[in-house]
Amino acid sequence: MYTKVLSEQCIACGLCQLKAPDIFEYDEDGIAYVKLDNNLGTKDIPLPLLAQFKDAYTACPTGAIVRSEVPFPKDNKK
Ligand code: SF4
Repeated sequence: MYTKVLSEQCIACGLCQLKAPDIFEYDEDGIAYVKLDNNLGTKDIPLPLLAQFKDAYTACPTGAIVRSEVPFPKDNKK
């Protein structure tokens, strides 16, 4: 599973980092990003982190966290 945050949809609520501190981090504006791969969506989420990923994914109030079974295109950071 691959994931990234659509920054334009993130409202900096803090829930994803609370639910999945090993996956999500915030930039200086409080906008979340995936720290596994600098929000590129190209690194497979390690199996032990999938439970916390699911918690964060379902907790995000805006749908800013997207996921995919395949890596996201590298030229499409957002
Ligand atoms: S839960 Fe969603 S809206 Fe809240 S900080 Fe994380 S990505 Fe942004």
